[in-house]
Order: sequence, then structure tokens, then C-alpha cells
Amino acid sequence: MASPLAGRFIIIRRSWVYNLSREPNWNKKVVSMGSDDAKRDTQIVSGGRESIHTIDVVNPPLYRASTILHPDTASLGSPDTVFGYGRRGSPTRAALENAMAALDGGFKSLLAPSGLAAITTTFLSTLNAGDHLLVTDGCYSPTRTFCNNVLKRFGVEVTYYDPTIGDGIRAVLQENTKVVFLESPSSQTFEIQDTRAITTAAKEVGAISVLDNTWATPLLFRPFDHGVDICVQSITKYIAGHSDVLLGSITGIEDVWKAFPLRYGALGMNVSPDDAYLALRGLRTLGVRMPRHHANALRVAQWLTDHDQVARVLHPALPEHAQHDIWKRDFLGACGTFGVVLQPAPQSAVAAMLDHLDHFGLGFSFGGFESLAIPTHPEKYRTATTWSPEGPCIRLHIGLEDPDDLIKDLDRGFKRLRDAS
Ligand SMILES: *Cc1c(COP(=O)(O)O)cnc(C)c1O
Repeated sequence: MASPLAGRFIIIRRSWVYNLSREPNWNKKVVSMGSDDAKRDTQIVSGGRESIHTIDVVNPPLYRASTILHPDTASLGSPDTVFGYGRRGSPTRAALENAMAALDGGFKSLLAPSGLAAITTTFLSTLNAGDHLLVTDGCYSPTRTFCNNVLKRFGVEVTYYDPTIGDGIRAVLQENTKVVFLESPSSQTFEIQDTRAITTAAKEVGAISVLDNTWATPLLFRPFDHGVDICVQSITKYIAGHSDVLLGSITGIEDVWKAFPLRYGALGMNVSPDDAYLALRGLRTLGVRMPRHHANALRVAQWLTDHDQVARVLHPALPEHAQHDIWKRDFLGACGTFGVVLQPAPQSAVAAMLDHLDHFGLGFSFGGFESLAIPTHPEKYRTATTWSPEGPCIRLHIGLEDPDDLIKDLDRGFKRLRDAS
């Protein structure tokens, strides 16, 4: 006698194949549990949990797939087939894509194997030879490396602009400007951009606006409410939140999405189901992690502001930050990542401070549950503007530890800094 489970498996599997191959999904607005009118915290919990992907398990199963079997030959070549081949998608990935699209508030999302790949894929999918690209001078440094070493070779003209340019962007927009790239706040220097002013001017010349929203996540900044057309982010950071996965996302509005799936597919992008699973698992607690990062980081930032070995704290939520008013107008909070400009000291003294911290790891990235510190050198990357800090710079990521312990740790670090200066 066949086991009752075997029968059930076949029924589930038939409906799975039927649903996935007969209901074209790629260019349809995402209908996600918790989308549209649901509040943000509800979307974080519910997004991407459609039962066709999860078979009603709370978390989507890990679908490891290269080959996907089709019910008939017509399905093999049909443009309506959703999951034709493993590289083109899987239910585990679709669950995260749908969750990201709902949370970002865009039309569709695609995943990339890293945040950087999300950025490079977006450029390669939107720019042609002879086009002009405007990039904020405060961009994540590998973004600049890609523009200078890859895009320029393919005949794309690249100009860097002052992150605080605002409406002044009009002066650097050209007839052939096709993409304006924003990142707010800037990597390492934390200037806040006037996104609305920049996207408005870009629209007037027919350029699309792409914004790297990694720092804020869709929780703290809503790019599509400020005229952005495509939002990219490193899921690696706050969304995954546990320092164990690299992943990126690209979310767009409907007007710019048409060419995306084909060009993205042509680039050979693939994301492992394990990584998509981990990112989704991290995402579910984003709503409770972010306010804690915000509060802990602000405590530490305020303590640093009063410290005599600190020249300046680069945190947009502090009233003395140069673009604090724009941050207050446009953002819904801050994450745990900010910069510190120290009073003049030799790099060896900065090393003495950072090398022996108990609660801060020394490592790149941010957004995990644990605190991190790195020395930074933003002055090295700028080309459109100069960045001349009063002293050495560091970047801190404030995790979910008790901020009192972090402050004591930093205080001991400052003593070492003084002794070594
Ligand atoms: C880390 C980061 C990226 C790149 O993300 P990866 O997932 O490490 O490739 C892109 N932009 C910003 C602002 C980042 O902080």
C-alpha cells in the first residue's frame, strides 16, 4: 500500500508545477502577503510567504536546483514558465525577492550575489556606450572602481559630483546623462543627499536615478517616495544582519523594469538558496534590530561628541551634522553605523586604540549584531571634492551589545591612543 504521504507529495508537487509554470510571475506586480497597505513591521514578517513558495511551512524550503522538470515540451520553451532553470530562479529566491519588493515598495526585485553585484548589474542593465553617468563622490569605493575600470572601458562617460550638490546637479547634467547614482549617507563620510532635488532634476532630462540604500534599509529611507527609480542595497549588511551571508538586491519601479530580467539573466547572475534563506531569516527581525542599533549608536555617538580626543562625529542624527535637517526631513531613523574624526594623532596611535578593543571586532562590513571598528581614509578616494579631516578617521558599527560596555571599551582605547601619541 502506498504511504499516504506519497500521495500527498504528488498532489503538492502537481499543483506546484501547475502554479509555477502556468502563472507568469516575472513581469506582474508582486502580490505579496503583507504588501501594499500593510504596515512596515507586518511586511517584514509576512513578505514573500506566499504558499506557492513555502508549501505553508513558515520559512520557505531550500530548493536546490539546477534542473527543473517541466510538465510538457511547451512549458520548456514558454516565456510564461517562471522557473525554467535553476539559474533563472527558484522558489526560495522568489520568496526573498517578493519580500524585498514589498518592503522597498517597488514593482519587482531581483537578487544579486553581493551588494556590489547589485550595483554593477544595475549599471550594465541601464547604460549604453556613449551614455553619461553621474556618480556621487561619496559612493562606496568599489562602486567607483567598477565605474573607472569597467564602465569607462565600454565607452560610458563617468563624472563624480559633490554629494551635497542638491539642486546644483543641474549644472553637471548633460544631454547624454542616462543615470544619476546616489548613496545617502555617503560611505565613510556620512553626508546626507537631497535626494528629491537630485531626482527631480534628473527626471527633467530623462535620466533615471539609482540609489544605494544600504545604510538606511527601506525601514529608514523610502527611496521611491523621493523620486528614485531603482534602489540597490547590500542585503549583506542590516537585512541579513548576522555577518554570515553576502547578497544584494535591485528593486525598481515599473517604468524602468522592462529590460531588467533579460539583461540580468544574460549576465549569469545566480544566488544560492542557502543565502536567500539566511537573508530572509535575518530580515524577519529587522524591525526590532534597527531601533536598537539606532539607540545604541546614538548613545555612543553622543558620548564621543563630548570626548576631548574627538574632533567630529559623523552621524546624521546629531543636530550638529551639516545635513541634519535633510536627514530629519527625509529619514525615519538611523542605523548603527557612523564615522568619527579623531584629533590629530599618528596612525600608530590609532592602531594602538583599535587593536585591543574587547567588544569591537576589526573587520569590514557592518549591519551584523556585533560591533565593528575600522580605520578609514576617505580623503584617498575623493575626486570631485576634497575631504580634509582634522585628524585620523575611524568608522564604528554599533551592534546590539549593551552600549555601556562599548563606551567603557572605547574609553580604554582612547587612553591607549593618548599614551601612544
Ligand atoms: C557593503 C556595501 C556595498 C557592497 O555590498 P557587498 O554585499 O559587500 O558586496 C555596497 N554599498 C554600500 C553602501 C555598502 O556599505
